[in-house]
Amino acid sequence: MFAMMEAARLEALHLTQDPDTGLKAIIAIHNTRLGPALGGCRYLVYPDEQSAIRDAARLAQGMSYKAALAGLQQGGGKAVIIRPAHVDNRAALFEAFGRFIETLNGRYITAVDSGTSSADMDCIAQHTQHVTSTTEEGDPSPHTAMGVFAGIRATAMARLGSADLQGLRVAIQGLGNVGYALAEQLHAAGVELLVSDLDRGRVQLAVEQLGAHAVASAALLATPCDILVPCGLGGVLNGETVGQLRCSAVAGAANNQLASADIADTLQARGILYAPDYVINAGGLIYVALRHRGESPVAITAHLQQISLRLTEIYAHAQADKGSPARVADALAERLLYG
Ligand code: NAD
Repeated sequence: MFAMMEAARLEALHLTQDPDTGLKAIIAIHNTRLGPALGGCRYLVYPDEQSAIRDAARLAQGMSYKAALAGLQQGGGKAVIIRPAHVDNRAALFEAFGRFIETLNGRYITAVDSGTSSADMDCIAQHTQHVTSTTEEGDPSPHTAMGVFAGIRATAMARLGSADLQGLRVAIQGLGNVGYALAEQLHAAGVELLVSDLDRGRVQLAVEQLGAHAVASAALLATPCDILVPCGLGGVLNGETVGQLRCSAVAGAANNQLASADIADTLQARGILYAPDYVINAGGLIYVALRHRGESPVAITAHLQQISLRLTEIYAHAQADKGSPARVADALAERLLYG
C-alpha cells in the first residue's frame, strides 16, 4: 500500500466503512500544496477493493495536475464509493459519506463524478459544506464546453495561423452534455460540423438544428477535417487509431484521450497538434471550484478564458523544445506541484 502511495506521490489515503448503510469509501488526497484537494466522487462496482483504491489514487493525481494548470488554489483528490450489489437507502449511504468528508476538516472537497448525481451531492451537503455540484450549483458541463471552445480557438491559432473558426471542418465524437453544447458554439462561429454519436437521436438533432453532417461512429476518427474533437470516452487515441487520423489538430473534452503517453509523441511526429485533455477540459473544474469559493459569474467566465492562454503557453514551449504539448503540460504541472 505504501509503495503504491509513494509511486503516485499520494499525500494521504482515507478509508471508512459503515455497516448500517453499506458505505465503503476511499478518499485519496494527492497534493494540497496549492489548496484543499478537490475532485469527484465515483460510485461504481469494482472487482476488488485494491482496484478501487488504485482508481482513487490515479484519479486524484490527475486532479492535482488539472487544478494546477487551471490556475486554481486547489489540490487534487478523488473519492471512490464501492457500489454494493444492493443498497436499501441510497440517500442514507451518501449522508454517511458526507459525515466522513466532514471528519477531514476541509482537506477534501467532493463533486459529481461517474455514477453520482447532484441529488447525491445534496445528501452529502446535509452533513458537510465541503461539497460542490449540488442541485443548486447546477451542471458544470456548459462551462466545460465553454473552456473547450476557447481552447479550440487557441489550437486553431497555433496550428492554422488564425483563431477565426469560420469555415473550418470540425469533427466531434460524442454529442453528450459537453459535446452538444460545444457543437452549438462552433456552429455559431461558422464551423462546418461533422458529428457522430452512438445515440442516433443526438446526431439527428445536430443535423436538424445545427446543419451538421452525420458520420458513422466507426468512420469519424478517419474523416478528413481541420480539428478532431473527442467528447465521448477516454482511450480514443491509441496504437490502432492514431495512424488513421486525417486532421491538423486534436482538441476535445474527453478525459484520458491518450491510451498511453507515447501516443503524444506519435501525434507530434505526424504533425498533429494535441491539446492536452486535462488542460482544455478544465472548465467544469474551474466552475465548481470558483462557485464553491463564492466567485461571481463574471469572474468565473474570465477565468475560463485563461484556458486558451495556458494552451498557447504550452504550444509555444512545445514548439521551442520540439516536444509534445502533453509532455510540456505534465512538466509544467509538476513544477507547480513540486518545484
Ligand atoms: P456524456 O455521457 O453526456 O456524453 C458522452 C457522449 O458520447 C454520449 O452521447 C455517448 O453516446 C457518446 N459516445 C460514447 N462513445 C462514443 C463513440 N465511440 N462514438 C461516438 N459517440 C460516442 O458525457 P459528457 O459529460 O458530455 O462528457 C464527455 C467527455 O468529457 C467524457 O470523457 C468526460 O469524462 C469528459 N469531461 C466532461 C466534463 C463535464 O463537465 N461533463 C468535464 C471534463 C471532462
